[in-house]
Amino acid sequence: MSHWILAVAASSDSNPFQSVLDFFKSPTWHFITLMFYFLLAVLWIACAYWVFKDARRRVDDKVILEVCVLTGIVFGPLGLIVYAIVRPPELVADRREQELEMQMMEQRLGEESRCSFCKTPVRDDYLVCPTCGRRLRTTCASCGKPIEPNWRVCPYCETDVHGAMPPVSVYDRA
Ligand SMILES: [Zn+2]
Ligand SMILES: [Zn+2]
Repeated sequence: MSHWILAVAASSDSNPFQSVLDFFKSPTWHFITLMFYFLLAVLWIACAYWVFKDARRRVDDKVILEVCVLTGIVFGPLGLIVYAIVRPPELVADRREQELEMQMMEQRLGEESRCSFCKTPVRDDYLVCPTCGRRLRTTCASCGKPIEPNWRVCPYCETDVHGAMPPVSVYDRA
């Protein structure tokens, strides 16, 4: 079998690959390479653009964002893969929302009521400070549940409590 191929190759004067070489010189091949480069360029730009778009939503820092975009532009699809691996897992908007939620939670904790005399943390349903014994809030005359000073109606029994209570200045919010 191999002898036969050698014989055929030897028998013909011209290069057996001449037609293949001719093809590579043909306008068709030229067009194909051109299209290939064009598609590559489009893919490259698309990758860089995707990195830019995604990084803008995930990266807060300007310098890091520039590095990400530069990686996308210089390394194209490869840069995109690298970026996809190392990119921050969460969006900036999500992170902001989380931070806001944390802040609100901290605020709520900070708003934790304290006795204005001895600064002991007191719960919302404490009637008197457990440390110094000062009155923190009154109770509903009808059902006996703790009442906030700014409430107009007792939420437990619907009794109108506005004005019925003495001003509770002892109670404050830190
Ligand atoms: Zn106290
Ligand atoms: Zn009540």
